Amino acid sequence: MPEAAETPVTMDKIVSLCRRRGFVFPSSEIYGGLGSTYDYGHYGVLTKANIRSLWLRSMVQERDDIVALDSAVILNPRVWEASGHVSGFSDPLVDCRTCKLRFRADKLEDASCGRKPSRHPGETPDCDLTEPRQFNLMFKTQVGAMEDASSVAYLRPETAQGIFVNFKNVLQLARRKPPFGIAQVGKSFRNEITPGNFLFRMREFEQMEMEFFVPPDQAERWYRYWIEERLNWYLDLGLRESNLRVREHTPEERSHYSSGTSDIEYRYPIGWQELEGVANRGDFDLTQHTLHSGTKLEYVGPDGERYTPHVIEPAVSIDRILLAFLCDGYDEEVVGERERTVLRLHPKIAPVKAAVLPLIPRNEEMASRARNLFEELRRHHVVEHDDSGQIGRRYRRQDEIGTPWAFTIDEQTLEDDTVTVRDRDTLAQERLPISGVRAWLDEALERPWRSPKAG
Ligand code: ATP
Repeated sequence: MPEAAETPVTMDKIVSLCRRRGFVFPSSEIYGGLGSTYDYGHYGVLTKANIRSLWLRSMVQERDDIVALDSAVILNPRVWEASGHVSGFSDPLVDCRTCKLRFRADKLEDASCGRKPSRHPGETPDCDLTEPRQFNLMFKTQVGAMEDASSVAYLRPETAQGIFVNFKNVLQLARRKPPFGIAQVGKSFRNEITPGNFLFRMREFEQMEMEFFVPPDQAERWYRYWIEERLNWYLDLGLRESNLRVREHTPEERSHYSSGTSDIEYRYPIGWQELEGVANRGDFDLTQHTLHSGTKLEYVGPDGERYTPHVIEPAVSIDRILLAFLCDGYDEEVVGERERTVLRLHPKIAPVKAAVLPLIPRNEEMASRARNLFEELRRHHVVEHDDSGQIGRRYRRQDEIGTPWAFTIDEQTLEDDTVTVRDRDTLAQERLPISGVRAWLDEALERPWRSPKAG
């Protein structure tokens, strides 16, 4: 077994790994980038796709009571008036007259002073902060050929409102009755004031939100249910329990319409921060859209009972989940004389499920056996074939992208049709018949997984 060496994970290490291995790049980098926007490379795309599909699977595929939706990014601007975003979706902003930087007045403890980065803004005698003023986070755009007030529209700052405005369609056409939910995944846009912290706070991010409509007297029960359900989703996917906690908002912190909000927080390298929010939004959204649109958004039962459902909302971004998995899985350890960096991701999250490696690529028989195995496996899973460089280097490359298993074709394969399977976490090696590799991998991917760092 390798020596255990728990090194603190810093955001710099995560950023550097993401770049080195092609998970994430700064956006439009050759032009100097653009604050808080990022481009996902090959492994980032694959990992995000896994997160998205596991979320949809648990929210939609495995349930009877939730349906999917994909609404537009640009909606009728009246949606955002009704929802309160035009007047109230803002953060308090302060400027420092000395260093000319801008900060969120409610997050000064997360920011660094422009002159003395070891201090927070406002903490040094030189800091000269203005009074806070409200800054609306919605990106404005124009729809159509006219550039006047009538053509103003917004890029959605959340996916939830697209769900509320489709409530009636789903209720009627999907023949649903509360309790039922509508789930949506898609890009949201916010002109965040405090850039930085990598994928944690982006100006363009991919949200996964589910609005669960319930009879008013069941709201509290479902609110508790969804906090539990979502926390377990992270635990089942191997995030360490010691890095997760639920923090209930105080009444002062919550929106005026909410009767309960809890954050599922993750211990990122920047400290405990909101990973996902679960809110009990009451009947605020459906009531607001009823008032503004003139369309009644309510449930009418077969025996004439009618009510405006209350809404429980679990909301998260794929980007914050990905960052949590990268931080939780990142590990450096010494194996023998060598150091290795390894991403201990749950196999279901890992971008590549297995690597197929011919030990001596020049050996034609080995090369062709490896190629055949790769062709067979790739029809079912994302797998990689790598025949360049020393075997140790190839293993380390796979460790860094979190590939859970590597199948190596060697001399013995040519004699007895077996391959070596190497486990990313334990480094244990065993031999398998080459004909059984596909079934072995299918089965291994279904096994529960626990982080070896969980203690
Ligand atoms: P914060 O207080 O951190 O700004 P918020 O409370 O405004 O977050 P919500 O409006 O509740 O966030 O958004 C729901 C979820 O969407 C968050 O829990 C987070 O996972 C994700 N999210 C929100 N803003 C961003 C962002 N700028 N970048 C990445 N993910 C985000």
